[in-house]
Amino acid sequence: MKKLQDFAGDINKCSKCGLCQSVCPVYKITGNDCAVSRGKFVMLDGVLKGDLKLNKNIEKYLDLCLKCGKCKSFCPSDIDVCKIFEAAKYECAKKSFWGRLIFFLESELVFGNVLKFLKLFRKRKIYNAQNPVLKLLYFKGCVNEINPAADKAIAKILKNTGIQIVEKKFDCCGTPFLSSGNLERYEKVKEKNLRLIKETDFDYLVADCASCQDALNNYGENIQCSNILEIISKQNIKFKFKKLRRVTFHKPCHLQDDDFVKVLLEKCENVEYVQMKDYDECCGFAGEFALKNPKISREISSRKIDNAIATGADIILTTCPACVLGLIQGAIGKKSVPKIQSLIEFLADADEIINC
Ligand code: SF4
Ligand code: SF4
Repeated sequence: MKKLQDFAGDINKCSKCGLCQSVCPVYKITGNDCAVSRGKFVMLDGVLKGDLKLNKNIEKYLDLCLKCGKCKSFCPSDIDVCKIFEAAKYECAKKSFWGRLIFFLESELVFGNVLKFLKLFRKRKIYNAQNPVLKLLYFKGCVNEINPAADKAIAKILKNTGIQIVEKKFDCCGTPFLSSGNLERYEKVKEKNLRLIKETDFDYLVADCASCQDALNNYGENIQCSNILEIISKQNIKFKFKKLRRVTFHKPCHLQDDDFVKVLLEKCENVEYVQMKDYDECCGFAGEFALKNPKISREISSRKIDNAIATGADIILTTCPACVLGLIQGAIGKKSVPKIQSLIEFLADADEIINC
């Protein structure tokens, strides 16, 4: 586990060019340089030199970040900003009462047991394929563990394809723990999930949630997780809708490659795709961010919904349960909002699913 001090060299690589300002959704709303990586690096540099204390004020600015990674992909110095913020957040949180309380709430004892309890009320979907042609190790993710909608959709789409879904008792992917700076808990869930992945026989490791997929791909050790829809897009499956649907798509920040979305929509009969403005900009939710910065979070979500309404689409599609919440948040109080739906559920809603 790296400490903030270990990132001193990376922080100093920041040339203060300010390019991150042009892409940061939080900067676009606040105009505050401390909201963006450049300003945070100036503060953290001061901390490492002993000129500033890692206090509540700095923690407030660390929390003013969606961890969307937009600045990372634009940064000419190629700085892995989120890793630095996570290390700084860990050092802030472990010293404060609230930080320690959040760590306790995220522990196996509380978070783990609450999840186990909620799962008791959920009917498990059993996937079966005789003589499977492909085995998919499915990382379900916490939201899909308690909401059966994605499971039902997967079972419906994969019926008669010979594709087998393999399930294991995975822990949370760790994304919420990185966000709160709970790096010790993150390392524990990562260790358990890695062990389960390594001891299982499968062809592809897949997730439906973009955040889980990204978290697993960042575990290292050559772990590669694909979006389950990417695998489905490569099958000879077609989706027939009787009535014409006009759809738009919100790309989750953690979804690296969204080429499969257009491939899948082209396999749909009677579906028209319209790209919304800034389709790949954050939905504004980002878990803890929405709780700590509710006004800014709502403003970002609201702009996203305005862009979706402007397309005239009937449905906004996405591939992350947290983004669905962000989109719902942005839709509050607005008229003529398109239906918000996950792409996998939309496909499963087709009037006919043809396995060619
Ligand atoms: S884009 Fe990178 S190098 Fe430029 S100011 Fe932002 S963090 Fe620093
Ligand atoms: S990760 Fe996103 S929200 Fe955070 S500083 Fe970078 S662009 Fe802004």
